[in-house]
Amino acid sequence: MIFDFDQVARCWRKRAISDASARSEVDRADWRIEQDVKNARAHVGKQPILDRDGRCHFCDELIVLALLFCNVDCRDDYDKEQSALFRTGR
Ligand SMILES: [Zn+2]
Repeated sequence: MIFDFDQVARCWRKRAISDASARSEVDRADWRIEQDVKNARAHVGKQPILDRDGRCHFCDELIVLALLFCNVDCRDDYDKEQSALFRTGR
């Protein structure tokens, strides 16, 4: 049997590449998680805790006291508004 060095080299190279890309994928995921945690921490630190005052915090509609927003849209819009304010540093 002839030992095919080229074949072996190709095989090793393929493995090295897949190792490298798997590693960088993990690195990227780690970095992403780190950034998310950092952002979340900063966000929590800056965002005042909302009072449940029976009004939607976005459109001011009267709502059940246990809720903060009248619907999901208002909550999302509020979140968007807050993160926009946060981004501009206000
Ligand atoms: Zn609302």
